[in-house]
Amino acid sequence: MNQAYDDGYIYYPGLTAFPVTLGHEFAGEIIEVGSQAISKRTGKHYEIGDPVTVEEMAWCGECKPCCDGYPNHCERLQEVGFSIDGAFAEYITVPAKLCWSLRKLERNYDDVFKIGSLVEPTSVAFNAVIERGGGIRPGENVIILGAGPIGLASTKILKTAGAGLCIVSEPEEHRASLAKKMGADYVINPLKENFVEQVKEYTDNEGAALYLEATGLPQVVTDDIQNAIWECKAVNSTVVIVARAEQRMPVCGEFFQVKRARIVGAQGHSGHGTFFNVISSMAAGMDVTPMITKEISLEQVPENIKLLQTDKENCKISAIIN
Ligand SMILES: [Zn+2]
Repeated sequence: MNQAYDDGYIYYPGLTAFPVTLGHEFAGEIIEVGSQAISKRTGKHYEIGDPVTVEEMAWCGECKPCCDGYPNHCERLQEVGFSIDGAFAEYITVPAKLCWSLRKLERNYDDVFKIGSLVEPTSVAFNAVIERGGGIRPGENVIILGAGPIGLASTKILKTAGAGLCIVSEPEEHRASLAKKMGADYVINPLKENFVEQVKEYTDNEGAALYLEATGLPQVVTDDIQNAIWECKAVNSTVVIVARAEQRMPVCGEFFQVKRARIVGAQGHSGHGTFFNVISSMAAGMDVTPMITKEISLEQVPENIKLLQTDKENCKISAIIN
């Protein structure tokens, strides 16, 4: 998302109200707590010293989508780090309704804040492949296009959910090797290999139950996805669109009709038990920390945001604020 086009602008379809303090994927320790701040996991008051992470989407809870149970589509949304002050700071004030306790992670992780900072992007992936994509039955194959943070987190989630084969398509070699670390069985380089032929070979022509579009290049990958659906045996495949893109998808309806396939859009990370279940899955061993490839201080954040324009080697860069 930080990579700008040639004109210097980024495509960001969410809300912004700059200037604000950036930073929307974070975890920290409670140092002051309101009398009504109650942990949704335990039903008890939060206490000073509790480790928590926070939803980025500050949903209102009062508009029709919120009241209908769809906070990811809130009509009066604010976004932490985009329209209200975020976490590249020593302290941040947030509503208790957006907080989730990380106590459950203390048993298995030495640094709950490090993995806690990945709950937000992992929840975006969880919302995409489990909530919106409908998840998988153990043994089913999945194909992830794009090994950015959301593609990588989806790889880990779907392998944890029992995917038979998880195939990742990614041309950049550092990200391809991260995909392997996160559990991918095969990685296709779509610039050097024929995507459809590789999918057919790796799955014995079975195809996949779920395809995740996590590249942001629908004009490039849609043909590959629908040709794989068309040429493989599987019916009922679901294509989940999670990456944001200006370009349209060139879809052949016939392929989706004959193969009983469907395309669904995924946005956000709130509601549907997502943060709760992501933290529980992490507590049970779903470790996504290999996607953190660099650790920096708060002072190094501005220079590293600029570096993201050109740096293809790093995935998640963690700012440690003491
Ligand atoms: Zn709302």
